[in-house]
Amino acid sequence: MKQVVIVGANHSGISAAVHLSKNPEFKVTLLEASDFISFVGAEALLWVLGIIKDPSHMGYTNPKKIQAKGIDLRLNSPVVDLDFVHKSLTYLDLNALETDSNVSISSQTPSAETPIPDGGVAQDTAKTTITFASTIDPAIIANPGVPTKIIKYDYLILATGSRPLLPAIENTHHKYTQTVKNLHDGKALKHLADNPDIQSVAVIGGGYIGVETAEALAHVGKKVTIYQSDSQLLTGFYDSEIIELLHNRLLEHHVQIKLNHRVDSLDDIEADAFIFALGFRANTALGGEQIARLDLAHCYLVDEFQKTNQPQVYAIGDCASSFNNVTREPTYYALGSNTSTTALIAAHHIMGIKTPNLGRQGANAIDVFNLKLCSVGITLQTALANGMKADASTCMDQLKQEDFIENNSQVHISVVYETETNRLLGVQLASDTDVSEILHLFSLAIQEGLTLEHLKYLDMFFHPTLNKLYNFVIKALHFV
Ligand SMILES: Cc1cc2nc3c(=O)[nH]c(=O)nc-3n(C[C@H](O)[C@H](O)[C@H](O)COP(=O)(O)OP(=O)(O)OC[C@H]3O[C@@H](n4cnc5c(N)ncnc54)[C@H](O)[C@@H]3O)c2cc1C
Repeated sequence: MKQVVIVGANHSGISAAVHLSKNPEFKVTLLEASDFISFVGAEALLWVLGIIKDPSHMGYTNPKKIQAKGIDLRLNSPVVDLDFVHKSLTYLDLNALETDSNVSISSQTPSAETPIPDGGVAQDTAKTTITFASTIDPAIIANPGVPTKIIKYDYLILATGSRPLLPAIENTHHKYTQTVKNLHDGKALKHLADNPDIQSVAVIGGGYIGVETAEALAHVGKKVTIYQSDSQLLTGFYDSEIIELLHNRLLEHHVQIKLNHRVDSLDDIEADAFIFALGFRANTALGGEQIARLDLAHCYLVDEFQKTNQPQVYAIGDCASSFNNVTREPTYYALGSNTSTTALIAAHHIMGIKTPNLGRQGANAIDVFNLKLCSVGITLQTALANGMKADASTCMDQLKQEDFIENNSQVHISVVYETETNRLLGVQLASDTDVSEILHLFSLAIQEGLTLEHLKYLDMFFHPTLNKLYNFVIKALHFV
């Protein structure tokens, strides 16, 4: 029986383990640094919004269910070293610490009195307390009292995910600060939301997490300001025409937006708490220089089968590179949508089934104060910045046939294309009605390198109450 060891038991690690566990030729061991598996980031926000009422319902699986599949899941087991020559890993057995009276593992939530230091690991000197408040850094938790264990592998899958970026700001320790990534951050956010002493919150960063967190906190009555160093929110996902709708919707709900505002010191901002939402960086602390990484993003560089440069070593999910079908280069996407695909491809390859990854185009969506935005591919801004010859066709239309439908809603669409070839480069949509299903069509079109002509005359159904004869997609394509 071949031993497959997977490092990291969140979406990608669990998914790979479950696929492999169905094959009796493999013994699967899943090592997880923290004490929780299958946390969906958005659940933290749904908990704040009151949509999730019972936090024990968070996560779509649990250790018992995973173990019942024959997977050897080891929680509180951060891997600290990889040995590619002897095909082994070293991990810390933090479970052994729980019985030690001098050292304890805690999952306490922070408060205004006990803010989380950068890196998310709180150290209490009287009694060594390791707080998994944010992503765990194996270097920080290396403690001489912790027993280490070694495990051999035939195949190794790295599913170590990503960690939130922290601002290069000194002296944040006297402030109430937090990131939004894992279950413990989620608990801290709920604690913050419920704390009447915290009236005003500064969200540093206007990407997906910043905007969604701002919405949730404004919803529970906090005075929220988003500080964004760029000239718009959700840079890289939407161009200015579509994003203006989001800006307006946030302002209508009293979320303040400070654009072109780089935060260099927390002391300059009047707020009771600060959320760091600056994006994510691939968590690739393991493997040193022996494992190839993608230069800028620093994620593990993988081929179309999720293989790294080390034999029998794969990387999946947020820690791995993706092939970008628009730029036709390796890139980095920290998106949950990549996790199951990459897990399946790696698991298949280990089983001897060669199904290559066809590349990604970054399909994504967000729903803020009922404004639903989704996009795929690249924006016009990004295309031009990359030196591509590109343009965009933007149009606004009624979603359904005006004569038949009451409460019709508007839909905004922007189609980005290469001017020399008419190749589709990206699509952005916004509406109060959910039109996100149509994004799959565009995702496929971009993956396959289709041009506007392929879509302009596409056979789309007509039905008086369901779709217009000449709908917003066709209109946007024909405006070109
Ligand atoms: C608030 C929030 C909302 C989001 N919403 C969306 C969304 O709507 N759509 C979308 O597509 N994506 C979304 N994402 C992104 C999505 O959650 C990630 O892409 C996804 O979690 C990546 O899964 P992963 O398993 O690859 O990595 P992670 O979720 O980062 O998990 C990595 C796991 O590895 C463990 N680990 C790390 N190092 C070690 C080690 N040395 N030893 C052992 N274990 C280790 C970690 O503890 C962790 O459990 C959201 C993220 C957040 C934070």
